[in-house]
Amino acid sequence: MRSVATPVLPVTRNATATSAATRLSGWGRSPVVEGLERIGEDLERLTRDVSLTRGLGRSYGDSSLPAKGGGTIASTRLADRILAFDPETGVLRAEAGLSLFALNRALLDRGWFTPVSPGTQFVTLGGMVASDVHGKNHHEAGTFGRHVSRLLLRAGSGDIVETGPDVERELFDATVGGMGLTGHILEVEVRLKRVNSPWIWSESETAPDFETLAERLVDAGRSWPYTVAWADLLHPSGRGILVKGRWAEPGEAPTTKFTWPGAVAIPFDMPGWAINPLSMRMFNALYLAKHGRRTRTGIAHPQSFFYPLDAILDWNRAYGSRGFTQYQCVIPKESGVAAAAKFARLVRETGGLPCLVVVKDFGPEGPGVLSFPKPGITFAIDLPVTDVTPGLVARLNDVVAAEGGRVYLTKDAFTSREHFRAMEPRLAAFDDVRRRWDPDRKIRSAQSVRLLGDNE
Ligand SMILES: Cc1cc2nc3c(=O)[nH]c(=O)nc-3n(C[C@H](O)[C@H](O)[C@H](O)COP(=O)(O)OP(=O)(O)OC[C@H]3O[C@@H](n4cnc5c(N)ncnc54)[C@H](O)[C@@H]3O)c2cc1C
Repeated sequence: MRSVATPVLPVTRNATATSAATRLSGWGRSPVVEGLERIGEDLERLTRDVSLTRGLGRSYGDSSLPAKGGGTIASTRLADRILAFDPETGVLRAEAGLSLFALNRALLDRGWFTPVSPGTQFVTLGGMVASDVHGKNHHEAGTFGRHVSRLLLRAGSGDIVETGPDVERELFDATVGGMGLTGHILEVEVRLKRVNSPWIWSESETAPDFETLAERLVDAGRSWPYTVAWADLLHPSGRGILVKGRWAEPGEAPTTKFTWPGAVAIPFDMPGWAINPLSMRMFNALYLAKHGRRTRTGIAHPQSFFYPLDAILDWNRAYGSRGFTQYQCVIPKESGVAAAAKFARLVRETGGLPCLVVVKDFGPEGPGVLSFPKPGITFAIDLPVTDVTPGLVARLNDVVAAEGGRVYLTKDAFTSREHFRAMEPRLAAFDDVRRRWDPDRKIRSAQSVRLLGDNE
């Protein structure tokens, strides 16, 4: 194993642990709660006597927020060292606060990439494990947890435990996708993926309606490692754009030196009215027109392919001060593309202004006890928060539960406990592991109070 210097995220480093009372929220900026956040470089010290650990707060809802009486939570964002890297096998061990942003800058142009990437680099390894994140390659690679070989964890009991697929497996499986509720992840060991160049070869095409889009998405997964679709659910047809990609071979890659682009920021909250049905319909129509009818092929930078939204820092401010939610669910494969298309129509009819809608194809379920993906079509739908949002989410959840689907906890802020229970037959198994490792339920979050019935 060799050590590798960690590129630093644009945040201030501070060698001593500090606690600060602060207003905390997820990426959706709804809800916002008062909390005490402890920040520092020594995670082992930081996680003593805290009720939850969070990373960069890119979960959308309340999973990374303290319960009302939850006391102090730990932030990993300064505990971000790469501890070891084996350039033969790609096995990396790092502190849980290492960001994908830093990892990409350290290792992509040396031929290594995360085996699974979410749609932003501003996430930590700990957060990727706790949410068991998926990417555009779920049909081929599964979730992030499938590539994790070891976790060092401080369980709710206070014990520090090494876990993995072959050590304390029960605890490991509950931690992967367990939303931080089984313990504080201190270190992560993961096998990275070898890539032949840092560039992506991509192909995209438009589809006239949702059925065609979803069928082509599933079909593309048979030959392309990365697939994703954007759907215009404000249009009656549910038309959209399908994007496919693979790593470029060295001969296809540009000869210019590979660099990462910068980003711009939105310096203030946009007024709530800026996002309205008319402006969104116009945006969608322009987006499709810009693509044109022909198939587009070519080399793409990994930033624009994997992380298009990272080009604008704080883009969540575009939704105004009430914030937004991302409703993400999966409609199981057994229900068929027709059920996914029916769901797409329901989203349009509920009138909740589905702004950005991303659709992916899920492959087999992994071992994570509460992990989100299961075979089927997943919808991720950005909705501005208004007075009607809870009712709207409930209507969508009625259908998802009836189809045997489920919602993604890392995005959720509005699901009721009853709907969650109806969707989650695995809850008893998860509770068993928590009871064993955290008998006093020291670890809890605003989300676990809402959905799992933990004490405030
Ligand atoms: C633009 C954007 C695109 C996204 N695209 C995708 C996508 O394609 N696929 C996908 O799966 N997700 C996606 N996400 C969601 C994101 O990947 C997850 O929410 C991820 O968990 C965020 O990581 P974080 O470090 O910010 O964690 P946080 O948001 O800080 O925390 C998320 C959860 O992890 C727990 N946690 C964090 N660190 C630790 C730790 N060290 N120990 C124990 N628990 C911990 C928290 O308690 C919380 O429950 C996206 C988010 C954004 C903003």
